[in-house]
Amino acid sequence: MMMRISELKKAIVILGSTGSIGRNTLEIIRHHPDKFKILALTAGKNTALLSEQIKEFHPLMVAVEAEKEAEKLRREFSRYGVKVLSGGNGLETVASLKQADLVVSAITGIAGLRPTYVALEQGIDVALANKESMVVAGSFLKKIAARTGARIIPVDSEHSGVFQCLNGRKKRSISRIFLTASGGPFLKIPIKELAEKSLADALQHPRWKMGKKITIDSATLMNKGLELIEARWLFDLKPSELQVIIHPQSIVHALVEFKDGSILAQLSQTDMRIPIQYALSYPERLSSPLPALDLTSVQNLEFYPVDEKRYPLFNLARRVLEAQPSFSVVLNAANEIAVEAFLEEKISFGQIYSVVDHCLQEHRVVRLSCLEDVFILDEEVRNQARQYLKLKGKEK
Ligand code: MG
Repeated sequence: MMMRISELKKAIVILGSTGSIGRNTLEIIRHHPDKFKILALTAGKNTALLSEQIKEFHPLMVAVEAEKEAEKLRREFSRYGVKVLSGGNGLETVASLKQADLVVSAITGIAGLRPTYVALEQGIDVALANKESMVVAGSFLKKIAARTGARIIPVDSEHSGVFQCLNGRKKRSISRIFLTASGGPFLKIPIKELAEKSLADALQHPRWKMGKKITIDSATLMNKGLELIEARWLFDLKPSELQVIIHPQSIVHALVEFKDGSILAQLSQTDMRIPIQYALSYPERLSSPLPALDLTSVQNLEFYPVDEKRYPLFNLARRVLEAQPSFSVVLNAANEIAVEAFLEEKISFGQIYSVVDHCLQEHRVVRLSCLEDVFILDEEVRNQARQYLKLKGKEK
């Protein structure tokens, strides 16, 4: 029997298609029209770009944040058979579409947690770019995935690197994994100048082109702290088996050290399209839209230990990694509020640390027995962080 080509294409849902990861995912899909098709897309506020994406990729369904915007899109696209939804329910409907082969979870922050969970609950494989959901609810996501048989395929470049090095190898053969960090824009500047670095300075990432929140997290190295916690759940490892090393060139993304002393590393161009494409095509490998990596032009691959004085937020995250899971929720929520305030230029770079440290100090361990407990604690900590910022504002 002849099979139609379209039946061989993976049906992809992108949650957060107008963000940095979302747009890069669409670029990969554009590059491999015979391998993938878009089933559904979601966006927050950038409905102008979503509208362009609908015209190009013809999804069956889309979801946006506000009903008012959804109404506008309905007027434009309903006649082409595009179903337009809105709000949290809309997002969850899109995330749990039964025809989906893969959901790309690319919404930033805790907003990505519920849709990621419902996709896994439906047994749909998830390409996970939203590290925050793994940080705050790793055990719940792993549990539901194990129950339904859905796979969680990392998109985060370091975790993709680990995933590729492991390639199904047994956990007991591993002694440690190393996630690399470029060190961000403030790797070399005098430490005493750090606290007053401007927003524009912090947004100048030397290697990666990414969304704003993660770029700030890279400047504080909180991003790597969150990635350690993400890796703990993704690969089911102990804190002592997880390491971070500074690697300014960002060519080696991760290394896996085995019990016998051998180390496997994953190297590639510093471009998110590589891990994204691997997550889409896994377990297959497809040709890349990027030129091959020329190691003779890179020449040097350097590795350094993390300077703890330079990155106090990383130290907080490292401690949280060893603590009860509720501390991870606090770490993430306080950091999201602090980074938001820094992006709005309401606080200094140095104050990001103060907010997160304050919330961690105040926290008393709570038992998280379900996903709802995570959301409740998350909301409490956000309010606490906002309150702290308000008080600090008045002190000025
Ligand atoms: Mg990363």
